[in-house]
Amino acid sequence: MCGIVGYIGENKARPVLISGIKRLEYRGYDSAGIAVIKDNGIICEKSVGQICELEKKINGKFDKSTMGIIHTRWATHGAPTVENAHPHFDCSGKIAIVHNGIIENYNYLKAKLEKEGHNFKSETDSEVIAHLIESHFEETLEDAVRRALKEVEGAYGLAIISLDDPGKLIAARHGSQLIVGIGKKEHFITSDVAAILEYTKNVVYLDDNEIAVLTRDNMKTTDVDNVQISKRIDEIQWNLDKIEKSGYKHFMLKEIHEQPQALRDSMLGRYEKDNNLVHLGGLKDKENVLRNIRRIIIVACGTSWHAGLIGEYMIEEHLGIPVEVEYASEFRYRNPVIEEDTMVVAISQSGETADTLAAIREASKKGAIILSICNVVGSSIAREADCGIFLHAGPEIGVASTKAFTSQIAVIFLLTLFLARIRGNREVLSNDMASKLKEIPKQVQKILDREDQIIKIAQLYKDNGNFLYLGRGYNYPVALEGALKLKEISYIHAEGYPAAEMKHGPIALIDKNMPVVFIATTDKVYSKILSNIEEVRTRGGKVIAIASESNNEISKLVDHVFYIPETIDALTPILSVIPLQLLAYQMAVMRRCDVDKPRNLAKSVTVE
Ligand code: GLU
Repeated sequence: MCGIVGYIGENKARPVLISGIKRLEYRGYDSAGIAVIKDNGIICEKSVGQICELEKKINGKFDKSTMGIIHTRWATHGAPTVENAHPHFDCSGKIAIVHNGIIENYNYLKAKLEKEGHNFKSETDSEVIAHLIESHFEETLEDAVRRALKEVEGAYGLAIISLDDPGKLIAARHGSQLIVGIGKKEHFITSDVAAILEYTKNVVYLDDNEIAVLTRDNMKTTDVDNVQISKRIDEIQWNLDKIEKSGYKHFMLKEIHEQPQALRDSMLGRYEKDNNLVHLGGLKDKENVLRNIRRIIIVACGTSWHAGLIGEYMIEEHLGIPVEVEYASEFRYRNPVIEEDTMVVAISQSGETADTLAAIREASKKGAIILSICNVVGSSIAREADCGIFLHAGPEIGVASTKAFTSQIAVIFLLTLFLARIRGNREVLSNDMASKLKEIPKQVQKILDREDQIIKIAQLYKDNGNFLYLGRGYNYPVALEGALKLKEISYIHAEGYPAAEMKHGPIALIDKNMPVVFIATTDKVYSKILSNIEEVRTRGGKVIAIASESNNEISKLVDHVFYIPETIDALTPILSVIPLQLLAYQMAVMRRCDVDKPRNLAKSVTVE
């Protein structure tokens, strides 16, 4: 969850490290620290809280150095204190490391090292790595790192420097994304390309168990057994303006407004010219296998899990293939039954979600074919899956997912059409569902243009402490997502339910202080949801309804209506969730919440 940046080159390290780590702030952190090699010594500074605190402490002091490492921490072992902030050192103070992930056998390693006389200064799991490297040091830093890592169990992305081998910066990866940037007479290490895009677009994605030894001029990649590995250099295709706010007050608002474009991008190049047949490049080699799958299990967490539920409705309705949707964290620790011809679909915006990654490893061991739906190209889940589809939604910085969610639904819809084509499902193909998706970006724009109506509703309800979100059919997962958005960023307690479940409990909560958001579009279950609205109204509850444009009766039954354009049921969630994203955003802003960095949350959840 943290951020790592490392630099070695001809330029001053401090500005590169600071500007880079600031671009990773969105990942969530509680403290930060920096170490650079300067005049035969390592100087280090750490602070709790914002990066600007660290910046103030180091001003002037770090200027001469041309190599160093920096870290933002999201504590897993030991409280967020200065002592526990990274970098961590060995006993001699000559080896400095920053670490992202969790060392699972740190207790054992720490006890062993303490017995050998090592002295620990923090409560973190990470510190064992510095001492372990020290205990293995003979001639070169990379040999010591290799030997040390053979003893380590768990997940890590590491950047390491040492005074005993001073012209080298070492990167090592197992389970936590790490990327090497290649510049002119300089190299970078980062946990996300956003940090180094200002300096280079040429990158190498490290794989698990790989170690990169970087000098100003060279990069050498090996595995832990010192077997050399040749790596491909990729060129990043997007620009810096994609990761800045472009005049919006928050990344989340920018990303909500980027949805028409993100949805267009997710369709790009995926329709056959002159007709609406769908081709997906990342699935091409697996068409034969996918043609014969008989069961689908979707694994995901959080918002992606909601997209998965919509996928279940969509695939079962249109293809008749049985689908189950699982929380990745539950799936990985039970004994899931994987039959022959089962496909596991992993959905994760970052492609680094630890539980989802573990779930696909488990499923793969049991023989399932793995299909990934990720936004981040080069991410672990995308690379470990047998085949996959990228969202192409662009980087999502706001912690609360918005454009990734709607793009996930669009991509699952494309997957449905793709499966229909290769399996010869005439009914779906003759329905011309594909052209409905093409209309969606414009329809989303129409909703965004009426944001002022949502602001008015938000003003009326911003001080409420509780909300209920109810929907049926395809809009049931939308109710869950609407409630989750509100909780995440405004800290208002909200519950999402299938509307009919209300009578089995939540109805007891209804009174004049409980606003209920009904997603009541004109679909197969519309008449059923009308009865649920009546049940709330008779108990004095306030009703905010999201309804279809052509509905001219609902305004008489509810307190507020927000109308959305009409589409087929399977695509309605892309439209009905937009007003809910805006409602959560506006209420959070009115309550002065830190929308892009909600408390206790992080963007990519790389710990279980
Ligand atoms: N487990 C380490 C710690 O608690 C690293 C956490 C992180 O990835 O930021 O310090």
